[in-house]
Amino acid sequence: MAETTIFWFRQDLRLTDLPGLCAAAERGAVLPVFIHDPSLGNEWSLGGASQWWLHYSLKSLQASIEARGGELILRRGAPEDVLTALIEESGASAVYSSRQYQPWATSLETTLHETLTDEGIDYKRYAGTLLFEPGSVLTGGGTPYKVFTPFWRACLQSEAPREPRSIPDVEWHVGVRSESVEDWNLRPSNPNWADGWESLWSPGEEGATRRLDDFLAGTVKHYGDGRDIPAEAYTSRLSPHLKFGEISPRQIWHAAQYAKQRLPEAAESIDKFLSEIGWREFCYTLLDQFPEMPNKPFKAQFDHFPWAGTQKALKAWQKGLTGYPIVDAGMRELWQTGFMHNRVRMITGSFLTKHLLTHWRAGELWFWDCLVDADIASNACSWQWVAGSGADASPYFRIFNPIAQGEKFDKAGEYVRRYVPEIANLPDKYIHKPWEAPASILEQSGIVLGDTYPEPIVDHKSARQSALAAYEEVKNS
Ligand code: FAD
Repeated sequence: MAETTIFWFRQDLRLTDLPGLCAAAERGAVLPVFIHDPSLGNEWSLGGASQWWLHYSLKSLQASIEARGGELILRRGAPEDVLTALIEESGASAVYSSRQYQPWATSLETTLHETLTDEGIDYKRYAGTLLFEPGSVLTGGGTPYKVFTPFWRACLQSEAPREPRSIPDVEWHVGVRSESVEDWNLRPSNPNWADGWESLWSPGEEGATRRLDDFLAGTVKHYGDGRDIPAEAYTSRLSPHLKFGEISPRQIWHAAQYAKQRLPEAAESIDKFLSEIGWREFCYTLLDQFPEMPNKPFKAQFDHFPWAGTQKALKAWQKGLTGYPIVDAGMRELWQTGFMHNRVRMITGSFLTKHLLTHWRAGELWFWDCLVDADIASNACSWQWVAGSGADASPYFRIFNPIAQGEKFDKAGEYVRRYVPEIANLPDKYIHKPWEAPASILEQSGIVLGDTYPEPIVDHKSARQSALAAYEEVKNS
């Protein structure tokens, strides 16, 4: 009888370009397994929006495996216990999976390796999540990069990512008991804050491929000039698909190279898009060097930063009730859709850490819970970038002016009107600063400041001064 290998799906919920699955299929029969461990990662266990996504992503993977004659086995519990039980039930002699990079993954994988090897089980991990494994692209001095631009340049000069693998022919090991994803209660109820998200997103490999194809078929032409305009859908929105591994960065890389041949006029935009994929790689490189990144500032002097934010201000920010329309629009987009445009992530992040002097971890945790693309490396790295404490960060004294940012990137207020409808009737001139509108205009627009829409929670100029003064305290420490 053929040897059975357990293929343990993790954040790689696809069948295409999965080296570990290919290796398992070559070895004999494959038992495909997904383990849900609600406590894995402690406070960094999956947030609410990611759990919603996971439900549908698993359904999609289940359907793909079923269509090929297999059955995805779902089990809840600690990976070590679940794998041990499954080995016993199936007689499997090997466990293969894709490598993971979360700070807790290394110790989990080391323990598993020791335990399973002791029991005579072949335990292997395969690359499959990144284009360049952390530690594989190094400076001339042999150390990992801490600055993005030279990192990405070195990536582009190293060996090109190999072609993606196709779905292997798999002989499935069947007949093992599975739990039901419905019983895991991954979707919210009471209230169902994700109501309507099914029409916004298509979790799963098929949805990911379709999104990539649609993006590269035309939208990408607008990426270079339009990626900062939050009212437009000019970015790929591939981030949640990448987070759950429904598509591999290698598939994206190669599809983008073909698109460059097909659309030479979009070559610059496509390179810009690939450099953003490069930022994802860079975030993982930083996390690998500094596993405390989700919790601790990369620059040690920020340990002593005089954060002075209040719970009340944090709540107003979370609810999109700060009185700054572009900030409020972003926070409401996040709540209503599980996503926020990158430009607005930077504006809302700067506002929280600088205008409200609130610790970046409060924002990081809120995003973690609310984003469908919440990713341990990109979220931590980006929050530290915004707060100025990161490795290759925006300097702390670069304080985004929420009015100027709104006027520049949402000129006609289209994005603000979409998410802050109570001020939609304001003329463009005041859409980013309702408090400057004359009383007659506010009245005509149906707005009572402090009642139908908040007064600004802080004054921009004085908040800026306070932030700079706070920074002076730690600058040279
Ligand atoms: P596109 O512009 O189409 O980019 C393509 C892909 O490149 C994205 O899907 C993503 O995987 C990657 N990418 C793009 N920008 C970045 C970036 N700055 N850093 C790392 N990777 C990037 N991204 C996440 O995937 N998960 C997070 O939890 C996350 N948290 C963030 C928090 C803050 C405060 C900020 C400022 C940014 C955060 N980002 C995060 C980065 C970025 O906002 C999103 O990746 C991007 O908005 C996703 O939209 P898209 O897929 O349309 O991106």
